[in-house]
Amino acid sequence: MIPLVVVGAAGRMGRAIAEAAAGVEDVTVRACVDRSPPPGIEPGGPVWGTDLAAVVRPGDVVVEFSSAPGAVAAARVCAERGLPLVSGTTALDSGQEAAVREAAARVPVVRAANFSLGVLALKQALDAVLGPLAGWDVEIIERHHRGKADAPSGTALDLARRAREARGWGEETLRHGRHGRGGPRNDAEIGMHALRGGTWIGDHTVVLAGRGEWIELRHVAQDRGAFAHGVLSAARFIVHVAPGFYTLNDVVRAAATTV
Ligand code: NAD
Repeated sequence: MIPLVVVGAAGRMGRAIAEAAAGVEDVTVRACVDRSPPPGIEPGGPVWGTDLAAVVRPGDVVVEFSSAPGAVAAARVCAERGLPLVSGTTALDSGQEAAVREAAARVPVVRAANFSLGVLALKQALDAVLGPLAGWDVEIIERHHRGKADAPSGTALDLARRAREARGWGEETLRHGRHGRGGPRNDAEIGMHALRGGTWIGDHTVVLAGRGEWIELRHVAQDRGAFAHGVLSAARFIVHVAPGFYTLNDVVRAAATTV
């Protein structure tokens, strides 16, 4: 049984991970950490706390979906205590991202802006078509719930990065929305459009537009189980690997070779 300590346990992803873990036999949520624990914690369930360092035990796997400071603090505690970390918080700045990666020198860290297997496949599909469709315009549309703090999503930025790098373009070619009389579209440009509203879990579309034809690659997460099951796979992977920085690709590749 793999014991998880979930940081951000009271949040949307924290609750989805607890629900997913409740449905499998090899992973359990042993402890929950949140800066605002929910009222009325049920007796007999996981231990709750506000301080990760105070609740972790040897053998735990720490899973964090919280905030940028929460991700950095979790990475520090994991490095100090020798515990593996699965980290999913998005919108870390470069210093915060470096702080999480620093922990990977001492413990295994799996980090992904999106733990859905479908999104991993979307990225691979995009990589595959970017070569043959070299001259086509790329636009990215993402939709998320009205409570999402950051825009565009980490996944949308990753999709844009893949397109930029395939074409040898810098970050300045990313164009966030359009308005007014900006003139015709630049050739070296990737349009990014972030919609916010309602309860959308996560919806990413890459449009590739050519002359007289276009294609769309789209992934829709219908519930947070899409991410939570990827997180459980990462927990199963991380207990067997050496210290280092890993992605969901590593998790999937390892699962494929052990089937
Ligand atoms: P949420 O606001 O519903 O939950 C976040 C929880 O973390 C809250 O309960 C909050 O109190 C707690 N928290 C924040 N800072 C903390 C800290 N320093 N210590 C302890 N607890 C802290 O948000 P959410 O929708 O669950 O998303 C959380 C993060 O995960 C966001 O960055 C989101 O973009 C990201 N996310 C990633 C994926 C993925 O697959 N990688 C999927 C969904 C969401």
